[in-house]
Amino acid sequence: MKRLAMVVGVAVLLVIGVLISRTLMHAPNSTEIVEKLTIEIDVAEAAQHLSEAIRYVTISHQSEADIDRAAFQDFIDWARITYPEVHQQLQLQRLNDTLLYRWQGRDDTLQPILVTGHYDVVPVIPGTEEKWQHPPFEGVIDNGVIWGRGALDDKSGVIGLFEAAELLLRQGFQPERTIYLSFGHDEELGGTNGASEVAGLLKSEGVQLAWTLDEGSFLLSKMLPGVDPLVATINVAEKGSVTLLIVAKADGGHSSMPPKNTAVGILAAAIVRLEDNPVPGGLSGLSAQMFDEISRYMPFMPRLLFANQWLFSRLLDNQLSSLSMTNAMLRTTTAPTMLSGSIKTNVLPIEAIAAVNFRIHPRDSVQDVIDHVRKAVESDVVEVRVPEYGGRAASEVSDWNSEGYAVIARSTREVYGEVVITPGLMIAGSDTRHYGKVADNSFRYNPFVVTSEDLTGFHGTNEKITVDNFAQGIRTYIQILKNGSGR
Ligand SMILES: [Zn+2]
Repeated sequence: MKRLAMVVGVAVLLVIGVLISRTLMHAPNSTEIVEKLTIEIDVAEAAQHLSEAIRYVTISHQSEADIDRAAFQDFIDWARITYPEVHQQLQLQRLNDTLLYRWQGRDDTLQPILVTGHYDVVPVIPGTEEKWQHPPFEGVIDNGVIWGRGALDDKSGVIGLFEAAELLLRQGFQPERTIYLSFGHDEELGGTNGASEVAGLLKSEGVQLAWTLDEGSFLLSKMLPGVDPLVATINVAEKGSVTLLIVAKADGGHSSMPPKNTAVGILAAAIVRLEDNPVPGGLSGLSAQMFDEISRYMPFMPRLLFANQWLFSRLLDNQLSSLSMTNAMLRTTTAPTMLSGSIKTNVLPIEAIAAVNFRIHPRDSVQDVIDHVRKAVESDVVEVRVPEYGGRAASEVSDWNSEGYAVIARSTREVYGEVVITPGLMIAGSDTRHYGKVADNSFRYNPFVVTSEDLTGFHGTNEKITVDNFAQGIRTYIQILKNGSGR
């Protein structure tokens, strides 16, 4: 007995030893030492330019008739005057209101790159105007903060790139590799008349880009509990989307004499089944890489879990799946959004219908999701209808060991110093779904810092950016253009 207790004791000590030593080894990866650079720019002038850009009401309304085309033309005219070197030295092609600039490189044998953003913005939700501390389209600069729609999404990206290019041209910089700059006018409507046209044009000219950089994630400040440094997630993929209709059928009739199972009851049960049976996911591939990188900076206890997935993978999976933000990184998500049933309170419906939106993880195809849903809910009385357009697959996953990724990471470190850099997954859509067709690799990342407070500004209220933050982003764009256009 005593011997057995001793054996168990030694085994427990051994396991604890393994857990701790693996945790200690799960430390930040040694990154290439990058020298932080001092990059002189005229910060006040740049802030003024962003402020002016915000004043053009370039809203992408859902209905074409509501769009103020003159505002887009005015913005384009303003850019021509504000960035004279860009317009003198680069070749401009206009595709509808999207602007494509070609910056000729010295060496035509090198594959070009494309850096892009969009200058259209979403409307301000009617009734929320009063909630803005400064009006959304006046570009007020108050106490070092630039206010207005587009301050983060994505006029800061477009103006940031204009500023970077103008400054480099003034300094006589000439790229080795050809650079394309593209500024979209309809990203918020899917980019069908802008980015899609640009991709089509490049394809017709036989251009295959080495890589592209578009809007995406940001440098996240204090958004992950216990992680102190800024976390730059460079998104290497974006999720797809499909909306399926779940249709429950039953006999109709008068509501005074309902059957035991009504269409609505059957539908409700089907939705609960779907929520209880999420599309399988977990810490593999891109998600694994991302959490592996970030967890190295976490406090001891969560670090212990990530460092010892041989023991804690289930626990981790449960924990990450229980939070909506991390769950969305791990799997295809299930979101019932719209319901319809009877047209009258005393009439039983013969069909009750739910629209369920799935955001597709790169590991799943649209068909995988349809198969999963059919298996979970389809029966004699429940039908799964697939929309005619079929849904949009997730993007390819770009290589985070490639040159473009390294350029973006290095440029970020040159400006921000020590930063956690990790590949990430974009949950929303971007114009890159079009550009990806003519590029070896595509990245989605804005080199500006955001806090959780800033998140409400995206498509919401009180969108703003500090002047200092905007300036750091411009510096990073300068480095991305310089480093990216080299050999
Ligand atoms: Zn955007």
